[in-house]
Amino acid sequence: METVSDREQAVLSAVPTGLFIAGEWRESRSGARLDVEDPATGEVLTSVANATPEDGMDALAAAVDAQQAWAETAPRSRGDILRGAYEAIMDRIDDLALLMTLEMGKAVPESKAEITYAAEFLRWFSEEAVRVAGRYSMAPAGGSRLLTMKQPVGPCLFITPWNFPMAMGTRKIGPAVAAGCTMVVKPATETPLSMLALASIFAEAGLPAGVLNVVPTSSAGALSEPLIRDPRLRKLSFTGSTQVGRKLIEQSAEQVLRVSMELGGNAPFLVFDDADLDAAVDGAVQAKMRNVGEACTAANRFHVHESVAGEFADRLAARLAALRVGRGTDDGVDVGPLINAKQRDTVESLVDDAVGRGASALTGGSRTGDAGYFFEPTVLADVPRDARILAEEVFGPVAPVTTFTSDDDAVALANNTEYGLVAYVFTRDVQRALRVCERLETGMVGLNAGLVSNVAAPFGGVKASGFGREGGFEGIEEFLETKYVSIALP
Ligand code: NAP
Repeated sequence: METVSDREQAVLSAVPTGLFIAGEWRESRSGARLDVEDPATGEVLTSVANATPEDGMDALAAAVDAQQAWAETAPRSRGDILRGAYEAIMDRIDDLALLMTLEMGKAVPESKAEITYAAEFLRWFSEEAVRVAGRYSMAPAGGSRLLTMKQPVGPCLFITPWNFPMAMGTRKIGPAVAAGCTMVVKPATETPLSMLALASIFAEAGLPAGVLNVVPTSSAGALSEPLIRDPRLRKLSFTGSTQVGRKLIEQSAEQVLRVSMELGGNAPFLVFDDADLDAAVDGAVQAKMRNVGEACTAANRFHVHESVAGEFADRLAARLAALRVGRGTDDGVDVGPLINAKQRDTVESLVDDAVGRGASALTGGSRTGDAGYFFEPTVLADVPRDARILAEEVFGPVAPVTTFTSDDDAVALANNTEYGLVAYVFTRDVQRALRVCERLETGMVGLNAGLVSNVAAPFGGVKASGFGREGGFEGIEEFLETKYVSIALP
């Protein structure tokens, strides 16, 4: 059965599907193409050029060639191009959201929210481009002057995941463009279309050839490793799993490459006995169900004080049971499919493991749908502490609920993971809130809030969730070197 509508076909046809290298669209050197699938149906939507490692080197060469002129371009011009791209994205948000839903699955309103978030990074960094500054001072002992200047790090490689096909790119591209860096972007195999659409918007906005190059490929490692080992590359910024991140850090050691790593998470969601339960349940729905649970910031495990755990789990189950699952393009759908069969199977095996150890499903618990990779929104109660689902990243619409007895117990449970991206804390007691926030080993905390992502804030983790920050004032620093000049002035 044909499921792609005329409007969907028109949106797909408008996206360039070549490699974007040195300002030109071209086929890969091998002529190979890469299929892009609709995760709601398993149908092939279109195909894109599939870059070879040689294409990757061409892209690096283009970035290297463009670097000096781009670094010398006036900051205001760089900012104006970012601002133009921001405006163009917002003008086309309906088409871009549909495109994203087709390749990634989430419901169209969620795709719109991501595109707004993605575009906001371009707006924020268009404003930051003109505020990069150094300093000048007298040495403490006098007799010399100290000048510090900020300079672009140089050509960068960005590797991004499928879960936020555009925002994970613009969080890097925005500050890099603002700072005067050139770049090669390797989007995820499953979701290259949003990044290709973004490249064409940047070209229209006047970004010079070679500043941004985009190379979708089915051989991520073979394409990226030679670039990482090439001394012309000056920076790697990766968003993805901790497992792949570890490999890339190892490869980066050879050239002592500057690296930023936005890796996996295992976010605890703590509900204390004094919490406003209405707010906690709202926050839980947001922190769990955003992006079908396929977010590094997704609440992975709910640790709830034993006195309120039953009521919290029942109320959360009622909310999740009311969500409508379906193809993300359909009106009224809240929850789209997971990205692929492997992800759906992982979620299923984590649920089966928990249930096998004594957890009970208050709602959901199974895969669903005749086609595509759907999983029911699920709440698991009485999850034992040794269940795999409490230790592994779920990346799906499943909320395991477990209990704690004291603040110390809650903090110990929250920190009992190699990850440290984000934690959520719900309490009305200010002193408890501050004490717990200070003791959590995470880069971010949502305090009575189910969403932390904000372009004006430094996003990033500690421990195995990585290092480096994206967004905020910190985001552009990742793309700047500090040079110090000592000036004799006797
Ligand atoms: P992934 O498997 O690590 O893939 C991420 C990117 O790395 C993709 O573009 C992938 O290409 C590429 N890749 C895979 N193997 C590679 C290799 N050997 N060398 C170079 N590149 C390689 O992660 P994912 O499953 O797409 O994304 C989910 C993960 O990302 C989760 O762990 C999530 O927590 C994390 N994430 C973190 C953040 C954050 O800001 N901390 C944000 C979003 C997601 P292919 O697509 O071709 O495999």
